[in-house]
Amino acid sequence: MKDESHSTTCNLCPHACIIPSGQFGRCGVRENFRGNIRSTNHAMVTALLCDAIENRIIFHYRPGSKVLSVGSFGCNMNCFYCQNYTQAHSWNGIPMKNLSPEEIINHAIVAKMDGIAFSVNEPVVCYEFVMDTFSGAGSMFTALNTNGMIMPEPLSKLLKKTDAMNVDIKSFKKNGYQRLGGNLETVKETIISTWESQTHLEITFPVVRGFNDKRDEIGDLSRWMAKKLSPSVPLHIFTVKPALKFSGPAVSSEIIEALRKEAKKYLDFVYTEKNQDTHCPECGTMIISRKSTPKSGDFSQHCPFFNSVDIIHHDPSCPECGKDLNIANQWFTNSNRQFRLTI
Ligand code: SF4
Repeated sequence: MKDESHSTTCNLCPHACIIPSGQFGRCGVRENFRGNIRSTNHAMVTALLCDAIENRIIFHYRPGSKVLSVGSFGCNMNCFYCQNYTQAHSWNGIPMKNLSPEEIINHAIVAKMDGIAFSVNEPVVCYEFVMDTFSGAGSMFTALNTNGMIMPEPLSKLLKKTDAMNVDIKSFKKNGYQRLGGNLETVKETIISTWESQTHLEITFPVVRGFNDKRDEIGDLSRWMAKKLSPSVPLHIFTVKPALKFSGPAVSSEIIEALRKEAKKYLDFVYTEKNQDTHCPECGTMIISRKSTPKSGDFSQHCPFFNSVDIIHHDPSCPECGKDLNIANQWFTNSNRQFRLTI
């Protein structure tokens, strides 16, 4: 939308920035260029590696498959504990490559990837880059890690191109989101729309000591998920490490376990760094065993690094009791496959 002062409104996310000519929106990457919104991070890549889908914190979509993970720069939130601050807000001078969507797809084909994922910085602010890449993905699947801060119309187009999505819900309180420069209601709407679409959905709740580490908050979130979505939607609880303005200490493993127990009252699949295996929620049968090592790399500090995924039962429902496990798409038969090939 343009006005007489040559400002343009960006309607991609709920910030709805009114951007004067030659200026940038709040995310720092979308510019009013001669009256039109231009995305300055299109085809700009700050991270590119072959990865396990589990490292994208997606456990119930084609487990054991490999993805080419792509990161660019920019973000539309301002979390005080940001785990990827350089790519999100301070990218000037960092190494990056100009790679077109076609070149990325070619990398994925050459490296024999099963899918392509956008992660690290916020994919919403790379909207056209993501859409162009996913449009050419062919038989490879497509996946995203996102904060869910996107308006319904662009979301609806994005969902048509995206097979699997993990949405961070960073607080279940309105004032929690205000502190992070986000909007809880928008994120809830994104989650509901994703659940109602054909896109596979998982949710991550990053826990920050003193911010969102009380049982009532995760209890409210889990009850809401069970009621509005389904108890079968996987919830990942992660410990946020000290970073940026969060001086720590990180929340203890005892508190994480208490939060897991609270969420398990309402949900079938609740994962933490110490609970990464998939068991049947009805009879307890082990379905998938996952092993990870502590993270020390540069990609995303709050993701564990999975070095093996052992699929014990290759059925979408429990072999013992028949319970539906909400595991989407085909199973991969190469158990204990080793991952992590950087290109
Ligand atoms: S995507 Fe960026 S420019 Fe557009 S409304 Fe959101 S913060 Fe503003």
